[in-house]
Amino acid sequence: MTKLRIAIDGPAGAGKSSVSKLLAERLNLSYIDTGALYRCVAFEMIMNDIGLDDEPGIRRILADLKITFKMENGRNLVFLGGRDVTAQIRTEQVGMLASTASALPFVREALFAMQRRYAEKGAVVMEGRDIGTVIMPEAQIKIFLTAKPESRADRRMLDIKTAGGQKDYNELLDEIRRRDDQDTQREACPLRPAEDAILLDNSQMDLEQTAAFIVDIAKKKGY
Ligand code: C5P
Repeated sequence: MTKLRIAIDGPAGAGKSSVSKLLAERLNLSYIDTGALYRCVAFEMIMNDIGLDDEPGIRRILADLKITFKMENGRNLVFLGGRDVTAQIRTEQVGMLASTASALPFVREALFAMQRRYAEKGAVVMEGRDIGTVIMPEAQIKIFLTAKPESRADRRMLDIKTAGGQKDYNELLDEIRRRDDQDTQREACPLRPAEDAILLDNSQMDLEQTAAFIVDIAKKKGY
């Protein structure tokens, strides 16, 4: 039997990361957060003061990019050139720039090879925007995970409050909508479900129910 490959795509805040981590644990798969790759590129651009119009500068970043992941106590740690950048790449500034930079075809092309290496190994759950359509079209299970913008904003608000922070709800909702627009309307690999993807709106489901739904599909396929 070929190794299981699961593709989870969908907009920001639909719970892709949390669900993917649970799936990795329960189905014994490695977990690859492809958004973290784009975030690392954006982070390097900010750190080195490289603008979106500086193609040679961005190409240099891509050529030198060394990203590794490490699961520790249920957290997916991201290392960039050996340095732990897990927290730094999660800011809204990095997210927004990652979204803009990811629309550049040469950026997607450079990260494609890196992602294919993970896909080829198999026994993997990969999450992103174009995993089922472009990166891992051979995946046996493709899920397009969505939730209403308001549900996603509620969840994000709870995360922020739990971490001791605060944020204006309407501003947050606005950011989510803007990033949705940017990700769905770009020309290069826009966010859209693969033809053979299962559409799963989890606005009314919790994390456990969402993960159980997907584990059930894997079991039915014999994994
Ligand atoms: O998933 P996350 O929000 O961390 O991703 C940051 C940005 O990277 C997204 O808004 C999206 O524009 C981009 N991205 C992408 N393709 C992927 C994963 C992320 O274009 N496979």
